[in-house]
Amino acid sequence: MDHFNYKDGQLHAEDVPLSRIAAEVGTPVYVYSAATLTRHFGLFRQALDWTDHLVCFAVKANSNLAVLKLMADQGAGMDVVSGGEYARAKAAGVPGERIVFSGVGKTVSEMRQAIEGGIRQFNIESEPEMRALSALAVSMGAEVPVAIRVNPDVDAKTHEKIATGKSENKFGIPIAKSRQVYAEAAALPGLKVVGIDVHIGSQLTDLDPYRAAYAKVADLTRALRADGHDITRLDLGGGLGIPYRRDNNAPPLPIEYGQVIRDAVGDLGCEIEIEPGRNIVGNAGVLLSSVIYVKEGEGRDFLIVDAAMNDLLRPAMYGAHHDIVPVREAALGAELRPFDVVGPVCESGDTFQKGTQLPSVAADDLIAFRSAGAYGAVMASEYNSRPLVPEVLVSGDHFAVIRARPTFEEMLSRDTIPEWL
Ligand SMILES: *Cc1c(COP(=O)(O)O)cnc(C)c1O
Repeated sequence: MDHFNYKDGQLHAEDVPLSRIAAEVGTPVYVYSAATLTRHFGLFRQALDWTDHLVCFAVKANSNLAVLKLMADQGAGMDVVSGGEYARAKAAGVPGERIVFSGVGKTVSEMRQAIEGGIRQFNIESEPEMRALSALAVSMGAEVPVAIRVNPDVDAKTHEKIATGKSENKFGIPIAKSRQVYAEAAALPGLKVVGIDVHIGSQLTDLDPYRAAYAKVADLTRALRADGHDITRLDLGGGLGIPYRRDNNAPPLPIEYGQVIRDAVGDLGCEIEIEPGRNIVGNAGVLLSSVIYVKEGEGRDFLIVDAAMNDLLRPAMYGAHHDIVPVREAALGAELRPFDVVGPVCESGDTFQKGTQLPSVAADDLIAFRSAGAYGAVMASEYNSRPLVPEVLVSGDHFAVIRARPTFEEMLSRDTIPEWL
């Protein structure tokens, strides 16, 4: 459930009409609902309330400081995958002991930054990384908590670009080899083995892959304990999917996911960490855009809008679907007409949807791309020298710009022409 609804014939974010935001901030613009974020975070906490747990928001899904602060204020931990994300989590007020560091290519300087600033645990993804972290920790006189990310070789049944738990993926250590790697980790100075980490992919719409992966994690926990390791923490990753189409079957709920976790690992007495990103923020955001032109083509009509692939990359990158809705509510029984909805960028891939059925729309009308809160603004670029898309946070009847649209001056000032040119 989210807080984007039609009231008085107009799509609102909570109690704010989107047309008001468009008028004051301009378009394109991302709009997030604080109430939806809070609600979704609460559902994950509730799903794990049977045990000691920490819900670590996956920062890569949406790293705006205001969004992170909202999460942090409710007690969220953070899952970060870069030094930049670590810096954002800290700037949003998250203490180091609530930050876990994931990612296949952590550099020594990123690891140093996290050790200096405080860290809950590193999720180690390879043996070379483990050795580098050990050497660094020793040189800093530190002992750092680590979990090892195991690759359970489970098919997450999701888009191939966001599946991470098959043996051919670059992530984690093959589960069959993990006892040997844990033995080496335990012997290395500067590392304190605390747990096991797994993350099999994103936008999972079926719980069976989780069941399969977590059963393997449970077996491994027992085996590692028998080997003498003190496994007290299980980081079970993120990935629970969201309904991108409002007209089809909804993916499982957090509470059902929590039950899968309880069934698989509930008897092990471990503290549970999860790392949801998309499920918390995806449906808490829309991308608001204006129609520039309605262009009648041969056999098809184009809706040329002022949002483009540089603002919302998912359709171009994954062929992803976002429901597109008019901000002015269509009259009941209004006639629908198919449009190809495209942006102004000079690429044919800058197509959001083909043959979308929309009520009659005209230039300057507002539309909204639903489910755009996750992997939206964070993937935006300034391709075609289009200013980085701004972001707005709504709470009740007020809103704030949480990232301003840069001016051309600001954009240009980031480049330098060398004096010898
Ligand atoms: C991307 C990622 C997540 C979050 O995935 P969602 O599908 O957004 O929930 C969690 N953990 C790790 C290690 C990730 O790479």
